[in-house]
Amino acid sequence: MPTPATNRTQTNAINSGATSADAAQLSRRGVLAGAATAAVAISSGTSLAKAPTKPQPAATPTEPAGFYRLTVGDITGVALSDGLGVNPGSPHPTFAPEATKDEVNAVLKDAFLPEDRFVFYFNGLLLKIGADLILIDAGAGSLMGPSGGKVEANIKAAGYNLDDIKAVVLTHAHGDHFGGLLTDAGTPRFKNARLIVNRAEHDFWTGAAPDLSGLRMPEETRKNFIAGARKHLEAFKGKTDLVAPGDKLFGDALELLDGRGHTPGHMLVMVRSGNEQLLNLADCAHHYILNFRNPAWTVAFDADPASAVATRRKVFSMAASDGVRVLGYHMPWPGVGHIREIPGGFEWVPQPWGL
Ligand SMILES: [Zn+2]
Repeated sequence: MPTPATNRTQTNAINSGATSADAAQLSRRGVLAGAATAAVAISSGTSLAKAPTKPQPAATPTEPAGFYRLTVGDITGVALSDGLGVNPGSPHPTFAPEATKDEVNAVLKDAFLPEDRFVFYFNGLLLKIGADLILIDAGAGSLMGPSGGKVEANIKAAGYNLDDIKAVVLTHAHGDHFGGLLTDAGTPRFKNARLIVNRAEHDFWTGAAPDLSGLRMPEETRKNFIAGARKHLEAFKGKTDLVAPGDKLFGDALELLDGRGHTPGHMLVMVRSGNEQLLNLADCAHHYILNFRNPAWTVAFDADPASAVATRRKVFSMAASDGVRVLGYHMPWPGVGHIREIPGGFEWVPQPWGL
């Protein structure tokens, strides 16, 4: 899920005279709230990008390279960075809310990760299937300030035209995945694209009373999630194709898989060509250490935490046993690698650069 500009949440706290504890809370909420922050921005009309800047406690890393080419048989793929969110504060309890902070810190320490900040990655995927150009997830657009919204520039940098994109497959309706569908003016960024979304996901968010009681987040945040999802889904009325897990698209090139849990209609996308495949994990995992070492550790914005864990175990086991190459939306850029089963859990194995 989402992450807004860390810098923003922190500087807002500083400028408002909030305490460090408040800052941590704001930061945590902000991190949680890609969609929430997005929705706040949508509903309030405020620009997240206007926040003043202040020196950061941790070094801000340079931007990652913006696109990474790969192939799946005859399909050309491009992993697209939508940005990088560096967040001050502990990843707990946004991550692993069911664990203690000491338990989380022990795992972080073992992985040589700091306890007081963490990074969120956002990796879209562009596919050239025959003559068709397909985008899987649209990034955050302007919803998360300067930490996101780089998919458009990176599509262009990779040599493609926005208007040539025929369809956007939305793995689920959270702000860091749908924000890029619309420009700041509220018009479709990919004006010739249809939106492909799981019917269960579409029905959930556009239904009378979406049940977000499973989120370990404030009520206001839940409302903002709903408002953001509805705005973006409704913008594609008449240009939406509702699908279901098991459906195949563009011949047999894409197969949609059931990934329910993170959201009710969260889905994964298996890409196939010849004897090669690539599994787009979407949000089966949000942290390349915490969700792998202990697959039962969730994130606070899972709609149905138990189902999210069951899906993660199932998908990770399949990917590990079959040796499937995967792309994770929130895995370290460019998010391409494999999953290995280890005692008690799993391990993220990044694909070496250039291979
Ligand atoms: Zn996400």
